[in-house]
Amino acid sequence: MAFLFQKKEHPLFSYTRVRRYSSNLFEDANRRYIVSIRNHVELMDGLKAFCEHLGIRCGQVTGIGAASKATFRMYDPATKQYVDKTFEEQMEITNITGNISEKDREVYLHVHATCSRADYSCIGGHLLSARINGACELLVDSFGDTTANRRPDDETGLNLYEF
Ligand code: FE
Repeated sequence: MAFLFQKKEHPLFSYTRVRRYSSNLFEDANRRYIVSIRNHVELMDGLKAFCEHLGIRCGQVTGIGAASKATFRMYDPATKQYVDKTFEEQMEITNITGNISEKDREVYLHVHATCSRADYSCIGGHLLSARINGACELLVDSFGDTTANRRPDDETGLNLYEF
């Protein structure tokens, strides 16, 4: 069965599936992948392409890496306005934490990240984009055929879960 778990290649990433030994079909539907986003690829593009490639519509992602440019977004609930800020410098991505869901039948990523700068201080927030410069190593958990849809919420102005 080893051939099932071989490393897979894609223009934006490569990946392998974490081996699990279980006779429980429900457990087996929840798959875990080790993903390497290729150098110079935009992280969110690569992650979205990975989810589309494997049909992942519900899951979670964690990771680390390095980037030469990152854009964070701050949402002000009082004005319902977004403020985006781009940092163009070499940074360690000290943490990526996010979830994978669906909106309008499309993959919807909600990712937060913390990046450390050359002086070891950290910046972070809701991640819009990050240009990988070095490496980007992710762990993606797919929750099988679980569905988690989103739709716009009038009160907050955000795309919230609809269960
Ligand atoms: Fe957010």
